[in-house]
Amino acid sequence: MTHPHDRALPRAVRQSMPMARDVLVEVAKQHGVCIRPIPLKRLDTYTGKWEIIDVPCGATFDSKCPPCAKRNKQLRKAQCREGWHLDAEPAITPDEPNEEQRWLVEFRADVHAQREAAEKAGHETAELDELISGLDEEINAAGMRGNVLGRTAAKRSRSTRRRQDAPDLPKRKMAHTTLGRTFQGSDGKVYRPSLFVTLTLPSYGKVRDGVPLYPDAYDYRRAARDALHFSKLVDRFVQNLRRVAGYDVQYFASVEPQKRLAPHLHMAIRGTLPRAEIKQIAAATYHQVWWPQANEVRFDADHLPVWDEQAGYLDPATGEVLPTWDEALDAIGEDAEPLHMIRFGEQIDVQGVLAGTPDADQCIRYLSKYLTKSLGDALDGGQAQREHAARMLDALRYEPCSPTCPNWLRYGVQPKGAKSGMQPGRCRGKAHKPDHLGYAGRRVLVSRKWSNKTLAEHKQDRRTWVLEALGQTDGPTDPHRYIWRPVPAGDANVPPLAARLLRSVHERQRWRAHLRELEARAAGQDLSATEDMARAA
Ligand SMILES: [Zn+2]
Ligand SMILES: [Zn+2]
Repeated sequence: MTHPHDRALPRAVRQSMPMARDVLVEVAKQHGVCIRPIPLKRLDTYTGKWEIIDVPCGATFDSKCPPCAKRNKQLRKAQCREGWHLDAEPAITPDEPNEEQRWLVEFRADVHAQREAAEKAGHETAELDELISGLDEEINAAGMRGNVLGRTAAKRSRSTRRRQDAPDLPKRKMAHTTLGRTFQGSDGKVYRPSLFVTLTLPSYGKVRDGVPLYPDAYDYRRAARDALHFSKLVDRFVQNLRRVAGYDVQYFASVEPQKRLAPHLHMAIRGTLPRAEIKQIAAATYHQVWWPQANEVRFDADHLPVWDEQAGYLDPATGEVLPTWDEALDAIGEDAEPLHMIRFGEQIDVQGVLAGTPDADQCIRYLSKYLTKSLGDALDGGQAQREHAARMLDALRYEPCSPTCPNWLRYGVQPKGAKSGMQPGRCRGKAHKPDHLGYAGRRVLVSRKWSNKTLAEHKQDRRTWVLEALGQTDGPTDPHRYIWRPVPAGDANVPPLAARLLRSVHERQRWRAHLRELEARAAGQDLSATEDMARAA
């Protein structure tokens, strides 16, 4: 056996040996162990002992922690399956917040205070802002709805005059149900049909294999703006769908990248409507973006607005104060055109699906297919596709992604919440990043009454199941037993990551062995459910 410390070994041979540390990460991944765990301090109030506990990073779709991304995908599948063909109204009563949820909100409060203090002291807050938006996502991921701050801005009263016309669509009387119709076969069997719908954005120019045939003629600006506002279009579609269907339609949808890098949507819908109606709704659905103009560049290169503590951003040549966001909105004339109008393309696919059929399973797999990938990951078509993505990013670079986007300065408007140091082309918003390609919204959209369970409850199910399988349940656990606290960066009590991974891999191996034993004992029974759960655990 050759040993890497053997000095007689040629360098090339030594270098061909894998690094033990890399192998550890690979093994951790194979065991489904989070490779970027977040250490937390936990006080056991029964014993009075503090312990460092690793919680999984919980990555939803990022390649930096494949095990968490994969686990999340399994959970989403379970959630999708659960709600699609419900035959009884889900009970919607908010649950008591659990320990994790309370802790997240407490932590959010601490960071909020830090941010306020930093702002008051005139310090940079960008990092805290990032942390806050990350925490807000975590808060939702932990099964809490909405934002801790509630609706952060009062709705502008003036913009209501721009109410978008309700499209000319049939309307049914609203029934107070979330369930679709059922049909009875001649044999008395009850069928519960549902829909699987795919909605796509329009063409921006001819493409082959996801790459524009004539890049110069490809409408990148339209593609960029459509991606930025895609989620609004989806919201409108759902509103119109409910109006036409006449019941409280529930859906589970995922936003996925197409090869041409445009987002598109797969949607499982509970209940059924005639296909022609779905197509009619999609064709009639549109969203108008009533933002200030962003077509005419007013400031560029060295000629950029300058910051003044009192007045905000000024024209560097004339000293004229640029209109604030609200002023710019108010200045949009009665007969103005919207900055952008987005609609679906003609490629609409509607499929009828019956509960419990292989078709339904296939659709669920399809819905979760891309959940471990970011939009930019659709890039596998080589050089031409990378160039296509680069042009798309260029088009996005100066597009305002939101009212607070620094890019507004380029078009002569102060971004909402303007502060010093803003520079067009340097927005840190997700939408401008290669991973997102304009779409910064959620990847999974689940309506509130989809199933009886939140994602957090699905997680809990999984945990309970594993513990039961291991014979480790000893009655309900006391929710007040543990107190959790964040661990400051560089805390000497936290063992190095490698040591923590080793421990997790060991635990995982013990578990797996135990599960295999149980399975062997249960041989002969239907194990598919067991396998599903084990994979998700
Ligand atoms: Zn992870
Ligand atoms: Zn931006």
